[in-house]
Amino acid sequence: MQAGKLYELTIHEAHELLRSRQISSLELTKSVLMRIAEVDGSVRACVTVAEDAALQEAKKVDHYINAGQEISPLAGIPVLIKDVICTRGIRTTCSSKMLENFVPPYDATVVERLKAQRAVILGKTNMDEFAMGSSNEHSAFFPTHNPWDLSRVPGGSSGGSAVAVSTDEALYALGTDTGGSIRQPAGFCSVVGLKPTYGRVSRFGLVAFASSLDQIGPLTKDVTDCALVMNAIAGHDPRDSTSACHPVPDYTRHLVPDIKGLKLGIPREYLVEGTQPEVRAALEKAIDRLRELGADIDWDVSLPHTKYGLAAYNIIAPCEASANLARYDGVKYGYCAGSAGSVIEATERTRQLGFGPEVKRRIMLGTYALSAGYYDAYYLQAQKVRTLMKQEFDRAFEKYDALVTPTSPTVPFKMGDRLDDPMAMYLADVCTLPVNIAGIPAISIPAGFAEDRSPSPGSGPGQGLPIGMQIMGKPFDEGTLLRIAFAYEQATYWHKRRPPI
Ligand code: GLN
Repeated sequence: MQAGKLYELTIHEAHELLRSRQISSLELTKSVLMRIAEVDGSVRACVTVAEDAALQEAKKVDHYINAGQEISPLAGIPVLIKDVICTRGIRTTCSSKMLENFVPPYDATVVERLKAQRAVILGKTNMDEFAMGSSNEHSAFFPTHNPWDLSRVPGGSSGGSAVAVSTDEALYALGTDTGGSIRQPAGFCSVVGLKPTYGRVSRFGLVAFASSLDQIGPLTKDVTDCALVMNAIAGHDPRDSTSACHPVPDYTRHLVPDIKGLKLGIPREYLVEGTQPEVRAALEKAIDRLRELGADIDWDVSLPHTKYGLAAYNIIAPCEASANLARYDGVKYGYCAGSAGSVIEATERTRQLGFGPEVKRRIMLGTYALSAGYYDAYYLQAQKVRTLMKQEFDRAFEKYDALVTPTSPTVPFKMGDRLDDPMAMYLADVCTLPVNIAGIPAISIPAGFAEDRSPSPGSGPGQGLPIGMQIMGKPFDEGTLLRIAFAYEQATYWHKRRPPI
């Protein structure tokens, strides 16, 4: 491989080359940093690049390798981290003015685990402010662009992470998913994104949005890499009281290209009104492929409570957000708009100036729904719906090994198109958020491209826009999702396509 193109490697390819000393981590890291310098001006995936620290860590890894030590699968491999995950000594902004200058004194557990494997942390990726959004347009700093068409959104809120992986600005990235924020941008950018079972990956050091829904997960170039990252980050953490004790398998053992006899259901409610014909066509083709590979497909599946998912999510998430974000008062840490006037006036000013419009909208919604007299009507009701949705999934999984849906009803939309219409924006997640409500795992994998009928600057001729397929599974059964995803990936070439940038 040409030295300058090392950034194109996957984790498993790079690991082999590092282990056999055909390349060094320093070369690899320099190549990726060069790639960031080359393309990030156009896509703007990164908020912070910690170049010196990354180069130093790469040199250390090389030292180990040269001393003949065995290295772990992520050693010496450059990674970018969503800017909502705390990194000691590296600014963690949540793409908010509120935390613009916040440098955490500690690492999130996932970051500790990556560091224990000697991963090379390159920096932090852009996102919707406090992970609230579906397009990255709610970043307080700048929007991120979709590399398949720069005039379109990359999805959100982990848009920076998805873009970075698809443009080779990192070999992989971490994202977070509260209602779809790993899977939806993965689908929009044609990369692999996994939202693990609630409790599978520690949330310690993840800046909280909606604590009962948030999960950290990988965004990778292929399914094998996804399994490798899961091996590193999954597992119990005593510092997160919601972290599960469930044993962690070696996820790479599930990477067998054989899905014969697996029962896959296609719940009809996920082909919602407004699903673009291109998305439906791609899904149908993908499902045909799964059938050819030996899966037993059932199109006659109904999950009738799905239609309440959006409403339940838009009560539960803002309620939890309003409680979690109460800590930003200009006193403890983060932005402070000055101490003039009373304490209440100072806090009000800080929150007025420190939070963007979407965050304020959620705080107001949540505070309202939790207030006396409304709690029962909204929050409690939403929690009941949540139980019903969970039970519905449990019943479906008695019959099916996994459920297959589009990741999003549409291809990436134009920047600005939904910014003034929060309801249209929230629709981008209809297919993903039931998964968080039920706490189950789901993966999005590249499943085709729609030809762009309205060519715009940045979209090469016939390049088309990415379409993702979502596979939902039983709690703690990420292994089966990886197996199905791997089998499909081996039989297709979508993951090999790179954006025209
Ligand atoms: N897009 C959804 C929202 O705006 C989900 C966000 C997320 O998963 N963090 O809340």
